[in-house]
Amino acid sequence: MDVIAPIADMRQWSRQALIAGKRTAFVPTMGALHRGHISLVEKARTLADRVVVSIYVNPTQFDNPEDLAKYPQTLEADLAMCREAGVDAVWTPQTAEMYPDGYCSFIDVVGPLTDKLCAVARPGHFRGVCTVVAKLLGVVRPDVAVFGQKDLQQCLVVSRMVGDLNIGTEIIVAPTVRESDGLAMSSRNRRLSPDQRARALGLPRGLELARQAYRAGQVTSLKLIEIVAEELLVHEGVDLDYCDVVSLKGFKESEFADDACVLAAAVFVDGVRLIDHVPLAGQSIPVKAD
Ligand code: AMP
Repeated sequence: MDVIAPIADMRQWSRQALIAGKRTAFVPTMGALHRGHISLVEKARTLADRVVVSIYVNPTQFDNPEDLAKYPQTLEADLAMCREAGVDAVWTPQTAEMYPDGYCSFIDVVGPLTDKLCAVARPGHFRGVCTVVAKLLGVVRPDVAVFGQKDLQQCLVVSRMVGDLNIGTEIIVAPTVRESDGLAMSSRNRRLSPDQRARALGLPRGLELARQAYRAGQVTSLKLIEIVAEELLVHEGVDLDYCDVVSLKGFKESEFADDACVLAAAVFVDGVRLIDHVPLAGQSIPVKAD
């Protein structure tokens, strides 16, 4: 497995793959890898001859400097996981090269995809995400890139940007990988103590209870949101950031839920921000009883 830092070296690696007629799949990450990330690598392996993973905690997508400072970094363990998963190259871009002095170019996706949910809760977040993803794709020039559905809004925003800018990389979305008790895997879970980890379960539980209520006939979005909020109240120190029913048709907030809707939420568990969502028509979240 090649471990590459300079942009020029990554560009050269990709050029060689292209000359050799190899298809490249790309998995961008911020490191602190877990099985969710590896599931994307496994998907990528089925789509191309070569798999590149980037590990880069992108400063421009953090609206909160403390969140950036506390973001877990576990490079050696990440490299071991990538090696084990059969990754061909890991790219670890450096901020001095990504955003040198004088840097002033950013990409904004405007409209319904970025006027709600995480876009409101984290101003500038998707601007940072789109900017870094466009930069990463511009260097790696993969045939296909794999993103996790866990970050649903990110998938939609990135797909839109890649289409609008004619970047030419196919975007594939892979399902959310969860712990056996239902908590969506996230690098941020590492920051949770066992007690906080237990309380964080309020998020998938609330979403699943609301999904079940929808399946039983409750279609009023406010009622579904209330179910999530009530479940979170049971878990002290879990604060709701947002919870909304959004239709995937047009990505609009919906007063009444239907099968095209997702219920999406973000919470703070003693300051650690976690997001999750459940497609109302889709599979249940495997939430264990106490
Ligand atoms: P991150 O390192 O958090 O920026 O995530 C890198 C990629 O992994 C993104 O496409 C995420 O959506 C994806 N990802 C993160 N957590 C999971 C998960 N639990 N299941 C599947 N994909 C995930």
